[in-house]
Amino acid sequence: MSKVILITGASRGIGRSAAILAGRRGWSVGVNYASNAAAADETVAAVVAAGGKALAIHGDVSDEAAIVAMFDATEKAFGKLDGVVNNAGIVAPGSALADMDIARMKRIFDINVLGAYLCAREAARRLSASRGGKGGSLVNVSSAAARLGGPNEYVDYAGSKGAIDTLTIGLAKELGREGVRVNAIRPGLIETDIHASGGKPDRAQVLGVQTPIGRPGTADEVGESIVWLLSDASSYVTGAILDVAGGR
Ligand code: NAP
Repeated sequence: MSKVILITGASRGIGRSAAILAGRRGWSVGVNYASNAAAADETVAAVVAAGGKALAIHGDVSDEAAIVAMFDATEKAFGKLDGVVNNAGIVAPGSALADMDIARMKRIFDINVLGAYLCAREAARRLSASRGGKGGSLVNVSSAAARLGGPNEYVDYAGSKGAIDTLTIGLAKELGREGVRVNAIRPGLIETDIHASGGKPDRAQVLGVQTPIGRPGTADEVGESIVWLLSDASSYVTGAILDVAGGR
């Protein structure tokens, strides 16, 4: 069955890979982005080239009204909603906690935690059977940082991802009988732009060779896991937190 999926932060990186892999299955994708419209348009073109349908949707996940609007836009464009990927996330330049200011921490928690919780809430409202929904799958993108802690780099980011793991555990139980599966992916060191935005463009490469598998991961390797969790092939999987981290 062809699915309709909304992916936050799908203009680049892991979200883009998941969108294209969804397109390869013939699915339709709401491609949310924050500011990079050109990158979102490239993702849309790649999804269509892969065999799916796609719509670029501008919206910042730290804005509640924008979240509601991106869900509305996806349902309006494609007629239904089957799955949501809570993928949008940011890091800030490496720092000890003692040197972090509140503006930085608020931004991390607004986008990574509140944004994800509000998207999960919106998914729960629209997909839950008791609210008239047809069920579906929510995939939360956490991070290996949730269990490693991010010392001297970003304990704020690591904590924000710990909240994503806890959301996954709780909401999977809350929605188990509502036809909604809730799972998380914990990527490790994946080659995307996020490391440059944290001030270390070569971070995944440098640290990736120290992982048990001996290299960083690709966005596609994470995207494959996301799309599997969205698909009916994972129909008995809920409340799972899957490490895609090369054994790190
Ligand atoms: P990325 O390459 O930096 O891409 C980030 C994406 O999120 C972009 O599409 C960006 O949109 C979007 N975005 C950023 N802030 C947003 C906001 N406020 N509202 C809506 N969209 C927003 O990042 P990535 O590496 O693919 O990361 C994706 C997810 O994986 C994040 O949650 C991240 O924490 C997690 N993760 C990544 C790694 C890794 O090594 N790469 C490891 C563990 C976990 P624009 O293009 O418009 O800026």
